[in-house]
Order: sequence, then C-alpha cells, then structure tokens
Amino acid sequence: MQNFEAFRELINTPRNIVITTHFKPDADALGSSLGLAGYLKKKGHKVSVITPSDYPSFIAWMAGNEEVMNYENYKIRGKTNNLIANADVIFCLDFSVLARIEAMSEQVKQSKAVKVMIDHHTFPEDFAEFVYHDTKAAATAQLIFQLIELMDEKYLLDVPICECLYAGIMTDTGSFRHPSTTPAVHRIAADIMELGVNTNLIHRRIYDSSTVERMKFLGYVLSEKLVVLPEYRVAYFTVTDEELKRFNSQTGDTEGIVNYGLQIEGIVMSIIIVDRPEAVKMSFRSVEEFAVNQIASKHFSGGGHKNASGGKTTGIGLAGTVEKLMRILPEYQEMLLAVRN
Ligand code: 5GP
Ligand code: MN
Repeated sequence: MQNFEAFRELINTPRNIVITTHFKPDADALGSSLGLAGYLKKKGHKVSVITPSDYPSFIAWMAGNEEVMNYENYKIRGKTNNLIANADVIFCLDFSVLARIEAMSEQVKQSKAVKVMIDHHTFPEDFAEFVYHDTKAAATAQLIFQLIELMDEKYLLDVPICECLYAGIMTDTGSFRHPSTTPAVHRIAADIMELGVNTNLIHRRIYDSSTVERMKFLGYVLSEKLVVLPEYRVAYFTVTDEELKRFNSQTGDTEGIVNYGLQIEGIVMSIIIVDRPEAVKMSFRSVEEFAVNQIASKHFSGGGHKNASGGKTTGIGLAGTVEKLMRILPEYQEMLLAVRN
C-alpha cells in the first residue's frame, strides 16, 4: 500500500468504521470482512459490517455473523444509510468496482468517509484513498492477514479472527490447489493452524454441510444438465428457474457446481448459466492461460480473475444467453485448443 504510514495513523485512532463487500458474499468476502472487523474492534473502533445482500448459510458460522447488516433489509435501511453516510472510514473488501455492491454503491460513493479498498480482482476502479490491491494474492483474506502483519499487530490475531481468514483463503484457493497457492499462502495457513484454528472443522463446515436437496440437485445437474462441446473443450450447465424451485435451491446451492466441468479430461473452460429473477447469472472457470475474465467482461457485463469469473445477461433469457455463448465461442476456439492440459 502506498502512503501506508498515513493509513496506520488513520486506524490507530478509534473511528466509526463500515466494512462492506461484494453482492452475494462468498467465504472470502465475508471472511475477510469479519476477520478485519474482529481486528479493528480489538483496536477500539466501532465497526459495522454491511453486506449488499444475503449470503449462504454454510458461511454464517463466522464470528460476528450475528451483527452483519443486510442492505437489502428495508426495515433497517435508515440505519444502514446513516452508518454509511456518517462513517469515518469505509473498507471495501474483495471487490474493486463499485457496481459490485449494487444498490449500496451510490451511498458509498456519496459518503464523506475515507475509503480503503483491499482486493485481488483485476481491473480496479479508482475510488479509494487507500488501496491495498494485489491480483497475485490468493484471497482478500490473505491481504487482511498481511495487513495486520504490516501493522506489526499479529499479537491481536485470535482464533475467531483466524477462522474467518482461513475460510477465505481455503475457498479462494480451491482448498490450496489453484495456481494462486504460493509458499506465502501455506505459511499463513501454518501460522493460523499454530494459533489453534481447527482447519478440518472449517473445511467440514463449508464443504460437508449440504442439505439432502442440494446433493440431489447436484446429481440432477450433473446427470441431466451437463453439455460438453469437445470441439471447443468447453463444458457448460444450464439451470432454469423451475429447477431451482423444484430442488428448493437456497443461496449458495449452485456454488461450486461449475468446477465439476473442469474435472472432465481435456476440458479447458466450464460455465454454469443460472436463470435468476434479477438476471441470468454466469460463472466461468478455466485452466492455465485461458482468461475467462476477458470473456466475462467483453460479452457478459462481468469480470473476476483469469481462471474464475462471473457475469450476467438481462433481457435475453436463458436460451438467449446460451445462443450468445455459442455465437462467441468460435472467436476463442483457437485459444481453447492451444491450452496445455
Ligand atoms: P463466482 O463464479 O464464484 O460467482 O465468481 C467468480 C469470480 O468472479 C469471483 O471473484 C467474483 O467476485 C467474480 N464475479 C462474479 N460475478 C461477477 C460479476 O457480475 N462482475 C464482476 N466484475 N465480477 C464477478
Ligand atoms: Mn476473493
């Protein structure tokens, strides 16, 4: 972070702080937010965590979860707007484009608070006074850990804080297997284990906590909805609104399914396309140098990381989205076929 000394000074005095993260927070978004919140509270700040939406129940065990305010909750909109408007500092974690906080973005932009962006996504916008941004970081939670190290305050870390950070690092690295998993990431994980975190428990809370309906939904999608296009080395799944309802799908139930496409030999890009009420939502995963964030940003109003991105369409429906995908695939065929696998 440039001007780190000014940042240190800023957060060495008790402040009113708001922490926010991207729409539909995942374990890294929520884990980095609640990990940072735990640390800042220990430093004497008044901290509020406001998420732009709800999030899956398999991450709701994190310390501080009960205090998180959902901006979509109209009953507390006066309070959340007040907190944002009157904050001294707003931390923006795990996103770097204001549109990613949807309805909150205008309030955050207008607030006089000093903004601090901590993130690892590509193509950041310039909206924050303090920026700790590193696309090579495996997770925003890694950056939070490193920030606390830079502050020389590792002694403030405790088990609840580290459980949150570990969850973010574990999930964003795909349980320490993505290429983002550097020796530094393993060292942080080792530090966290030494502090007393039960990492096996964290893994089970997140990955071994499916409902029976979710397991049946996964089985259905794999057996009935998988489309493989060997000529492009692409696999994709579509999920309709009716199927979400039939399997009583909850927030987070489609998460991770896209990764199964990459488990097929030779597949270089996997996509899941889900018909949500607000938009048709897409998740992209790829291997090696094939950059899905380029496809997501160029064609599907999205973005993300080179090998894990998201996007959406509106007004063309699920079938229209698949048609659009089919139209653009030839443009990428040569690159897809060239990938080492
Ligand atoms: P997921 O597929 O797990 O929802 O998202 C994969 C990655 O892409 C995450 O880092 C997420 O933040 C990013 N991402 C997902 N959806 C969008 C989107 O609509 N816009 C942008 N810019 N990034 C997205
Ligand atoms: Mn992340």
